[in-house]
Amino acid sequence: MNEPKTRVIVVEDEPQIRRFVCDALRKEGCAAIEAGTARQGLDQAAADKTDLVILDLGLPDMSGIEFIRDLRTWSPVPILILSARSAEQDKIAALDAGADDYLSKPFAVGELLARVRALLRRPWQDGSARPQHQFGEVEVDLSRRIVSRAGVEVHLTQIEYRLLAVMLANNGKVMTHRHLMQEVWGPGHTEQGHYLRIYVGRLRQKLEADPALPQHILTETGVGYRFQT
Ligand code: CA
Repeated sequence: MNEPKTRVIVVEDEPQIRRFVCDALRKEGCAAIEAGTARQGLDQAAADKTDLVILDLGLPDMSGIEFIRDLRTWSPVPILILSARSAEQDKIAALDAGADDYLSKPFAVGELLARVRALLRRPWQDGSARPQHQFGEVEVDLSRRIVSRAGVEVHLTQIEYRLLAVMLANNGKVMTHRHLMQEVWGPGHTEQGHYLRIYVGRLRQKLEADPALPQHILTETGVGYRFQT
C-alpha cells in the first residue's frame, strides 16, 4: 500500500533549522533525511534515490559551493539553496555551480514548501545519477572522491579530478576542447588548449595501462577527446 515517499535530504548544520525544515517537509508527506555535514549529505545522496537536496551554504566541513560541484559530478538531483548569505554574488556562485533555486534566510515556511513543490514538479533524469564507475583496472567513486587503480588509491589534483568527472559524465561522447575547458576551468577559459593537453596527459599517466596507447581517454584529432569505459 505504501507508495515510495519523496526523499528530500536537508544539509544544514544548525540543528534547530534542520529540524524545522524536516518537520515541515514531513507534514507535506516527504521522507526528510537530516544531514549535519556536507559529508553526511553526499553519503545520503549516494545511498538511495533522492528527489531533492536542500542545502545550507555555510557548513563545517566543506563550502556549499564545493558540495554542489561534487554532487553535480554525478547527480542531476534538484538543489535548493537555503542560506543566510543574501549577497547577489553568493546566489550567482551557487547557481553557476549547479544549484536550481535559492531562498534567503530568514524564510517563510510557506514559500519554502512552494519552492520545494515547484522543483519536484520539474522533470529531470535520474538515469545518470551513479557515483561509481569502473574502467580497466580503475575504480572511481565520485560520491567519496576516491580513485583507485588495481586496488591502490590514486592521488589526483583538483583539476585532474574534475577533468575525469566530466569525462565520466560524457562516456562515449566526443567532447570538444572548448566544452572540456569550460567544464573544468569555467567560462572564459576556453582558449588555453595547451593546459588541457597537459592535464589529459597526466590523467593518462595515472590511469591508463599504457599512456602512449590509451584505451579509455582517446584523442579525437582536431576536435577533442572521447572517453570510453
Ligand atoms: Ca550553516
